[in-house]
Amino acid sequence: MFVCTERVIPVQLPPLSRQPPSRTPRAGTSPFLISLRFILASLRHLIVTIDGPAGTGKSTVSRRVAAELGLPHLDTGAFYRAAALVALRNGVDLDDESGLVAAVGSAFFDQEDGIMLIDGEDVSVEIRDPLVATASSTVATHPKVRSALVDHQRCWVELHGDAGVVEGRDIGSVVFPDAGVKVFLEADPSVRAARRARETGQNFGDVLAAQGKRDSQDSLRDASPLLVPDDAFVIDTSDLEVSDVVQRIVELVRTASR
Ligand code: C5P
Repeated sequence: MFVCTERVIPVQLPPLSRQPPSRTPRAGTSPFLISLRFILASLRHLIVTIDGPAGTGKSTVSRRVAAELGLPHLDTGAFYRAAALVALRNGVDLDDESGLVAAVGSAFFDQEDGIMLIDGEDVSVEIRDPLVATASSTVATHPKVRSALVDHQRCWVELHGDAGVVEGRDIGSVVFPDAGVKVFLEADPSVRAARRARETGQNFGDVLAAQGKRDSQDSLRDASPLLVPDDAFVIDTSDLEVSDVVQRIVELVRTASR
């Protein structure tokens, strides 16, 4: 059985206290700070899942929601990208499941403050390469690779105080099915591709084609396909500003933790 220990993923942050918050306000503490402290305390073990395809604004929104709520943020797509990078660097065939599992098992993955590390090396830029993106979607079709990476993701959250904003494709459906708040972001495919093309400077047509391939691979695979969890709030971001999406999610979290 998988055991989450500090050997698997060392974290610099101490886990948040599991003690209930003290109800006795200190002399001189303002009512605002007291209520803020109670809100933050109530969020301590809250997991917010944000799933959806590429280009819906998932990463930007998730990071901002996490910052607003004072929760850790985990980008699980970066784990699949890191796994693909390890495979590409070592010449492992992307269809060789046991080769991939061995390659992933021999590397040490971690993520802190949005920086993805493989054996301590910052690979945050390299994993954004379009080749790595396409490879990550193939790597993600293998159930045993997924299982190893999901263990890491659950462990990361456990070591960060059992709370966080976790983004991906299967987070609300498989990784944290009991999460307190589940969100699914969607948007028109051409809007998504235009956003990505603007961000990366790539040709719109190329982005649209690669996105379509990734979408169908992610949605049609047998293992943990991209789907809308039954109990998720669906937000179409096609015509919304990032700040509007963030506010909606923060409101959902506040309502759920009342
Ligand atoms: O989110 P991002 O585009 O970085 O994810 C890269 C790839 O990793 C996706 O295309 C998908 O195939 C895979 N992925 C996944 N499950 C997740 C996160 C990402 O299958 N939870």
